[in-house]
Amino acid sequence: MTKIANDNPVQEDGKVEDNIILPFQLQESGLRGRFVRLGSALNDILKLHDYPDAVSHMVADTVTLTTALSSMLKYEGIFTLQTSSKGAVKTLVSDIQTNGAIRGCATFDKDNLKDIKKSDGAYDGYKLNDLTGEGYIAFTVDQGAHTERYQGIVALEGETLQEAIAHYFEQSEQLRTSLYVASRYTDGEWRSGALMLQYLPDDHADNVDVVAFNEKSESERKEDWHRSKTLLQTCTDDEILDMDLHPHELLRRLFHEEGVIAYDTKPVHHECRCSKEKVEDVVAGLSEDDKSHAAQNGEIKMTCEFCSKTYTIKV
Ligand SMILES: [Zn+2]
Repeated sequence: MTKIANDNPVQEDGKVEDNIILPFQLQESGLRGRFVRLGSALNDILKLHDYPDAVSHMVADTVTLTTALSSMLKYEGIFTLQTSSKGAVKTLVSDIQTNGAIRGCATFDKDNLKDIKKSDGAYDGYKLNDLTGEGYIAFTVDQGAHTERYQGIVALEGETLQEAIAHYFEQSEQLRTSLYVASRYTDGEWRSGALMLQYLPDDHADNVDVVAFNEKSESERKEDWHRSKTLLQTCTDDEILDMDLHPHELLRRLFHEEGVIAYDTKPVHHECRCSKEKVEDVVAGLSEDDKSHAAQNGEIKMTCEFCSKTYTIKV
């Protein structure tokens, strides 16, 4: 745990960590926050594919949002964020395990995507609905067999994925959440980051440094929420993606008047969950008809959409 001093810029030696979830809390309001920064983990995912820029950008946002949203939940298992829509980009999927393993992929219609691309070919950010058309985003928490699956669903509306997800939280008074997400491709590398604040009305501070929060009235808490949310939204893409800017210093810049307590970071990494056994199970579940259609020379080849690994199963 590190208390970030209000008037003292953070100067820490060494390279700033990438691929992290940094939990923090604001002292004044008791609000809980997360900062996510992805470098090589995101790059590892995107270099497995040769997606057009707009699709890569959307996958980057999806993976980053998945990491940020999952880090607010208490669960043991898999958190998945998935879109489904009728436009050129059909699906965006990302999941993360409690151990920090993330992956992501997209399916899209190449020909349809060409029509949307601007004539000069320059890419300057995606417009969500131009690419996805009508559709929805679903969040799922899967804690294994014999447990209830949690699912939330919201329409794909807004300019970006983060806007669409913000709509989901706007509908919920119980789970006020503010999000800021940025992804960018520079010098041959993808980087991304996210900042998130969450207000839980029945929350109770057990940390001595934020204990004053327990004494506050509901209207004071609402005021705290609006002020902190506004501060979060003053963050810029450059700040969130700057690999030379220490996350503690970013939090100090944004929230110095609120007081920030930063907790230990949690690492995330790219790892796919596919395996030969899982693919064999899928093939075993096919009807004899489907098997003979899919087979060539007595073999079925299946490629993992997440990591592009191809498995050959004898049938
Ligand atoms: Zn895979």
